[in-house]
Amino acid sequence: MSELNRCAYCRTERPANEMKSGKIIFRDRHPMTRKAIVNSKTNQYCADKPCHGHDQMAHEG
Ligand SMILES: [Zn+2]
Repeated sequence: MSELNRCAYCRTERPANEMKSGKIIFRDRHPMTRKAIVNSKTNQYCADKPCHGHDQMAHEG
């Protein structure tokens, strides 16, 4: 059995060798101070589709 990762954008489950990790930067609030901060996280995306770029765009604005 091969391990499947789920794309953070399109939710497709694919083998790890068809995925790539992508960093997303998004606006957030500090949990203690409630001040606006810039946060980031690393997700898994389809390596052959522009899922990473679409997800980053979805987090902007
Ligand atoms: Zn995808």
